[in-house]
Amino acid sequence: MPYHAIGRFLPFLDAQSCVSVLLHNSRLASWLWGAPLGLLRRGQNRKGQKLPMQVWTDLALETARVRGATFADARVVDIRLRDLSTKNGQVGNLSETESLGLGIRVMANGCWGFASTDRLTREGVQACTAQAVAIARASALAKLSDVVMVPEQAYVDTWQNPFIKDPFAIPLERQLDLLLAADREMSRVAGVTLTETSMQFRRLEQWYASTIGSRIHQVKMQSGAGIVATSFAGDEIQKRSYPSSFGGQHELAGYELVESLDLMRHAPRVAEEAAALHRAAPCPEGRHTLILESSQLGLQIHESIGHPIELDRVLGMEANFAGMSFLTTEKLGKLRYASDIVNVVADARLEHGPGLGTFAYDDEGVPAQCTDIIKQGLFTGYLSNRETAPVIGLARSGGTMRAESWNRLPIIRMTNVSLLPGNWRYEDLLADTDDGVLMETNRSWSIDDRRYHFQFSTEIGWEIKDGKKVRMLKNPSYSGITTEFWNSCDAICSRDHWILWGTPNCGKGQPMQTMGTGHGAAPSRFRNVRLGAAFAK
Ligand SMILES: [Zn+2]
Repeated sequence: MPYHAIGRFLPFLDAQSCVSVLLHNSRLASWLWGAPLGLLRRGQNRKGQKLPMQVWTDLALETARVRGATFADARVVDIRLRDLSTKNGQVGNLSETESLGLGIRVMANGCWGFASTDRLTREGVQACTAQAVAIARASALAKLSDVVMVPEQAYVDTWQNPFIKDPFAIPLERQLDLLLAADREMSRVAGVTLTETSMQFRRLEQWYASTIGSRIHQVKMQSGAGIVATSFAGDEIQKRSYPSSFGGQHELAGYELVESLDLMRHAPRVAEEAAALHRAAPCPEGRHTLILESSQLGLQIHESIGHPIELDRVLGMEANFAGMSFLTTEKLGKLRYASDIVNVVADARLEHGPGLGTFAYDDEGVPAQCTDIIKQGLFTGYLSNRETAPVIGLARSGGTMRAESWNRLPIIRMTNVSLLPGNWRYEDLLADTDDGVLMETNRSWSIDDRRYHFQFSTEIGWEIKDGKKVRMLKNPSYSGITTEFWNSCDAICSRDHWILWGTPNCGKGQPMQTMGTGHGAAPSRFRNVRLGAAFAK
């Protein structure tokens, strides 16, 4: 359980009890947070005006200095999480948790030390910092060389992602009623044997400070929702999800995201498709033309571009748990990763969209940036931090360090790793395809630890003949080699069809950290792809 719960974990709780816990947390929150956040705007200079939580970051930095640290940064993080789900018309889970604490990272004798605490008292913060310095000194006994970081400026800033409706201010009953209604709509369809719905809201507030003088306050509000209908018949399970599988769509947004998804309108279609899949023809085997819709393509980007470009993975820092990468550093600027029409960026800036990889500053105080990863098919960039950037000759970090919570060390994480839109209208792309398969909505994924050989299956497929969708296909799957696959891309749809998908559940690190990432994509076509291997008889 990654969260230290100040609230409570509340499985199968009735709505009324949960509301009382909410009120409890709201009182706790206003006591802890002090100034109303609505008054804070990015760009205001907060010099001389300390936020309450900065008392603890300042104390941690001062203690680190006194104990001989040459650099330190501290984060106080307050995370509030609300989870709702239903299953077969019943409430599945209602939980409201809150987690508050401080993490301090120090450099001493040329090595890193990290410690964290939920004891926000003078004694607690000083003891935690002393432990971080002691860990750094102990690590230095076995060092091969000193850690070197590229320089970074100091920033004093406050930022909050834009949103319209605070999901924590919406009554839980209203949110639950919507999920139960969508659940009911799906269960009406004959052949549907399991219905599931979910919503998740997360508010993260962070106070960052470092010994170079940065003071950064950020608030991130995240919302997500999705529905799933499953049909079990004979010896086969078929399912359909909306708007995407594994929890639906997630954005840095308020409750307006949930409303825009219009779950009720899509519930009957999702259920009917799940039942109809049993009667569909199987996906063909062999090499064919493949069109991927944008959420499946988002996951393809995540696994076969996003993970291999993590520079800590490339350099072996993550090898024992997450594996390494085929993208060794001599390939930078030389490898033809993809065909000429493929352009991929890692963009954490708000102008890219409200992705789960959007922020103003990363967790080592570096401003959000856009890095070209693949430019006209050529491999041009990695995800870097202040420590790994100099290894590939960069003068500055790419700004990709994030930690799951206050009790975890920041590591390199994907920001919004997105395929930029092309020029095709979706209708024209289908019309231009004589013989192919369209695959939608991820069902499973598998990729080796160097991120080179992969196999994906999706929930549903459609046979394309002479430019038209002619029939449904079940058990679709495709497999390939990362660079061969991306080099076979010959059409990408335009911005009108481009969606910035949010993946809330990317796992990395030891101990494991779960992080949200963003992946923009529009439907795209790939030629000569091996289909059907996952279900071949
Ligand atoms: Zn991942």
